[in-house]
Amino acid sequence: MRVYNFSAGPAVLPEEVLQEAADEMLDYKGTGMSVMEMSHRSKAYDAIIKDAEKDIRELMNIPDNYKVMFLQGGASQQFAAVPMNLMKNKKAAYIITGQWAKKAYQEAKMYGDAVAVASSADKTFSYIPDCSDLDIPEDADYVYICENNTIYGTKFKTLPNTKGHTLVADVSSCFLSEPVDVTKYGVIYGGVQKNVGPAGVVIVIAREDLITDDVLPGTPTMLKWKTQADNDSLYNTPPCYGIYICGKVFKWIKKMGGLEAMKAHNEKKAKILYDFLDSSKLFKGTVEPKDRSLMNVPFVTGNEELDAKFVKEATAAGFVNLKGHRTVGGMRASIYNAMPIEGVEKLVEFMKKFEAENG
Ligand SMILES: *Cc1c(COP(=O)(O)O)cnc(C)c1O
Repeated sequence: MRVYNFSAGPAVLPEEVLQEAADEMLDYKGTGMSVMEMSHRSKAYDAIIKDAEKDIRELMNIPDNYKVMFLQGGASQQFAAVPMNLMKNKKAAYIITGQWAKKAYQEAKMYGDAVAVASSADKTFSYIPDCSDLDIPEDADYVYICENNTIYGTKFKTLPNTKGHTLVADVSSCFLSEPVDVTKYGVIYGGVQKNVGPAGVVIVIAREDLITDDVLPGTPTMLKWKTQADNDSLYNTPPCYGIYICGKVFKWIKKMGGLEAMKAHNEKKAKILYDFLDSSKLFKGTVEPKDRSLMNVPFVTGNEELDAKFVKEATAAGFVNLKGHRTVGGMRASIYNAMPIEGVEKLVEFMKKFEAENG
């Protein structure tokens, strides 16, 4: 039996995609082997990775002067790759809106002068700071954001004013959840295990002029974007099976109507949950309403014992992985693309029942 899985990541994937992968497990399209078993240089695999790139380009409307790379090491690997590839002046501006942004910032400090130009740490990252007029160093190589903060449930609704500097965004937990204007970014990247596929794959979308041989001394060959871009993500063996699943998810999103449709679907789900949180006497959301994420919804009862009781009873009722991040406590419902509306509706019904019994 499938449960309603509210995990923040690795997270729920479309059931159709899993079923298709299962059907193709032993014999992928007459090759007599699984995608896991085939050469990454084979004709069959070439079609898989090329198709995946074509589909994500179409979904995100990625201009021709951007490269799409399917890499390994997860999002965290890019915390180092970003400064290694971009820090020509050894300076960058970081906006600290949660743990992932902070980790990226700390990593960048090992390679140059990473400057924290804004932060919402003062209120446990429960809001997005005003980024309309930041004090960005003139010679900063880029401005860095974590666009959707998986742990705290905030999202940048407007991108920061970078004052002409290159914008770099970690979009791990909002990847393909709504349309984006790629031209506003220099680099967009995300680990795929939140909204797109299996853990380990990270997709990097970078403007061509930012992909150069002029990287920090000592940058490993594998972390140099130019190596990967010049070889169409096939410099070495890529995470073949993971990319194959991502490709299936891209096709699923296209079938669902693309990113506009995803956005409508995600807004509808989030509204059900936020409306309930706003009306509940027991549960409350922890995020400033204007900055609420469509993907990750943290909430609390204000009583740790009651939180634990809720998580326990919810799990027993088939709503799993609702425990909040270990650094925040409370609960968090991650309602990514693949979470069906009825999953959220039933969760809210369950929360109402719990409130009636414990309020
Ligand atoms: C999960 C997550 C990461 C870390 O991803 P890994 O693939 O485990 O390295 C980084 N950034 C954000 C926003 C995330 O949600």
